[in-house]
Amino acid sequence: MIAMPIYEFLCSDCGRKSSFLTRSVTSSLDPSCQHCGSARLQRAVSSFAIGKTVGQVHEATGPAPKDPGLDFFRDPRNIGRNVEETFARNGMALPQQVRESIDAAREGTPPAGLDL
Ligand SMILES: [Zn+2]
Repeated sequence: MIAMPIYEFLCSDCGRKSSFLTRSVTSSLDPSCQHCGSARLQRAVSSFAIGKTVGQVHEATGPAPKDPGLDFFRDPRNIGRNVEETFARNGMALPQQVRESIDAAREGTPPAGLDL
């Protein structure tokens, strides 16, 4: 089975979303609203293409995103997060020295040699 990207359009009339498989959307096609039939559609960004903002990441209590963007790493509050999670995953306590380095980095003092 081949996964095809889905183009989504927002209807200017009823405000609802219509989805079209890539194959069905060509330059010659005039997509119409699947709910009210209106032709006044605006291209919407597919939901899976929208990256999480740092704010959303912080709101989430789950683990760090698998593919975090640069903003994630630029946020001092996320410094050392992967280290913390690695230790937690292995059931190990964070060594005091590491703990202090992370805390210091989050306060704005990156550990020596660490290119942030
Ligand atoms: Zn509509």
